[in-house]
Amino acid sequence: MNKYDLIVLGGGSGGLAAAQRASEYGARVIVIEPARLGGTCVNVGCVPKKVMWNAAQISQEIEDAADYGFNISQHGHDWPVLKQKRDAYVKRLNGIYQSNLEKKSIDLIQGRGKFVSAKEIETEYGDKVHAENILIATGGFPIVPEIPGANFGITSDGFFDLEEMPKRVGIIGSGYIAVELAGVLNALGSHVMQFLRYDSLLRSFEEKLGSHLLEHMRATGIEVINQAVPQSVQHEKGLALTMEDGRTFDNFDSLLWAIGRAPNTHFLTLKNAGVKVDDRGYIVVDRYQNTSTSGVYAVGDVTGKAQLTPVAIAAGRRLADRVFNAQPEKYLNYDIVPTVIFSHPPVGTVGQTEVEAVTSFGSDSVRVYTSEFVPMYNALTEHKPKTLMKLVTVGKEERVVGCHIIGAGADEMLQGFAVAISMGALKSDFDNTLAIHPTSAEELVTMR
Ligand code: FAD
Ligand code: NDP
Repeated sequence: MNKYDLIVLGGGSGGLAAAQRASEYGARVIVIEPARLGGTCVNVGCVPKKVMWNAAQISQEIEDAADYGFNISQHGHDWPVLKQKRDAYVKRLNGIYQSNLEKKSIDLIQGRGKFVSAKEIETEYGDKVHAENILIATGGFPIVPEIPGANFGITSDGFFDLEEMPKRVGIIGSGYIAVELAGVLNALGSHVMQFLRYDSLLRSFEEKLGSHLLEHMRATGIEVINQAVPQSVQHEKGLALTMEDGRTFDNFDSLLWAIGRAPNTHFLTLKNAGVKVDDRGYIVVDRYQNTSTSGVYAVGDVTGKAQLTPVAIAAGRRLADRVFNAQPEKYLNYDIVPTVIFSHPPVGTVGQTEVEAVTSFGSDSVRVYTSEFVPMYNALTEHKPKTLMKLVTVGKEERVVGCHIIGAGADEMLQGFAVAISMGALKSDFDNTLAIHPTSAEELVTMR
């Protein structure tokens, strides 16, 4: 049997980051992965999604071009060309990941792995490997509801397989994926209906972000249907979706479930290693990514915390620093996680919402600054989306604990402000920073 210092289950964001860092410290590492290297982010997540978002941005800019004096007419969009180029890009990335493993002498076995014991893994093809340390980084999968006909719909995975643009699409959900894909499809020419269980989008974020986005989505032609809880799907008149209250919506070419993800743990036979999961099936870890079994760790989406690529990568690297480079106190602090939702317009958000700050510090302690304006780019365009910014501060010294932006450029603006907030910046530090003019970002250092 082959013996290693570290077995990594899952060649996605977290697994590859940990494997490479551990091998840099001299550990003998093997990665076990059943599918394409790079995991969700590279193959069916961030990367192909951002390509589609870029295409949607271009579509909006072509529309705006006439307002800037260009004589341009748009003759539709060639979805198959974009898909082919996107797939080729992802394939190049798969190859780069493969050669990075080879360069670092990390072994790779294709196939799903499962625990024989806390120190031994067997793949679905019968290969057996042994290690003192095993990392579970098996990510998650999109949830399909258990209602009749649900399998006629697709998920985000199926979205990336679409060979043609669906002319009429129904999207069920109100979180990251629902709003991102609704924006992309709408901008590229689909008729989009989005179904919310309640009345608002992005309910776990600063309230104003969701309400502003909802207004904008409706203004750009997306039909958002509130209080719509799906009961069944029928394959007649295209696809039809019937709600619990009896309403039916039909004639869809595609229905897309975007109602969250669940952990990939079913094949792992975790009980053979004594690894505990919580009531939703996520692997329970402490702040050091230790599971309930000594020498077995978990990072990334499979732990159910802040399901984002940089989080999985950071947790994986810190784990390798701790276990293979004698840095016993190294761990990832999940308190301040900046994130961008690639909607149209994009959302950038870091830190506490107003409600969270009031709950933590009391309403007397919290002071909020907001700004709403039409960006200068849109001064000349017919289409006039507003940008909205909100800073949440606490205490007499007004420490900035939250920064929430929706509007063009929010995606690229947030990273620097996340540095400032992570360092404990005060509102006076923002005020003392010279503005960069004319930009939208300058509003964040000139709020009163
Ligand atoms: P994954 O990247 O999912 O990797 C897990 C790997 O484990 C997979 O390759 C899987 O095949 C493998 N595996 C499964 N079972 C086994 C087994 N039994 N044995 C061995 N291997 C196994 N995040 C962002 O930060 N920004 C974004 O813009 C963004 N966009 C997204 C868009 C979409 C549509 C989706 C779905 C996700 C997006 N995410 C984004 C989230 C991001 O993709 C995930 O948080 C990230 O990929 C998690 O990394 P991971 O290593 O935990 O898991
Ligand atoms: P999210 O958790 O973002 O949103 C799913 C939403 O769907 C829920 O919040 C819920 O909202 C709604 N929902 C849940 N169950 C049902 C149901 N049965 N019927 C109708 N609606 C339902 O999940 P996503 O699938 O959008 O994305 C998964 C994760 O992937 C995200 O949490 C994020 O971590 C990551 N991701 C990150 C991206 C980025 O960084 N830009 C992009 C895409 C994904 P409500 O309660 O309001 O109904």
